[in-house]
Amino acid sequence: MERRKMKLKKDDTVQVIAGKDKGKTGKILRINHVTGRVIVQNINIVKKAMRPKRQNEKGGIVEIEAPLNASKVMLVCKKCGKPTRVGYRFDADEKVRFCKKCGEQL
Ligand SMILES: [Zn+2]
Repeated sequence: MERRKMKLKKDDTVQVIAGKDKGKTGKILRINHVTGRVIVQNINIVKKAMRPKRQNEKGGIVEIEAPLNASKVMLVCKKCGKPTRVGYRFDADEKVRFCKKCGEQL
């Protein structure tokens, strides 16, 4: 499968722009370049039933972050603190991301 070009990176702070967690922000924990999905800390929480693995262990409900489509989140600029579109420019032959709102390198 083809890897998608994603403008997001692990540890980026993003804001959710669609869905049940719209408006919330969190840090990207994982990125799947094949599916184009991201896992964001405390976002898109689902409850999952766990079976007990041993006899004296209790099964239970755990809450985990489910992946969501990268198109549903926007990068939050470190400088202006707003969700922003990301641009690319070349800085001394190196491709860098920048905030389209304030121009800050991200
Ligand atoms: Zn900015």
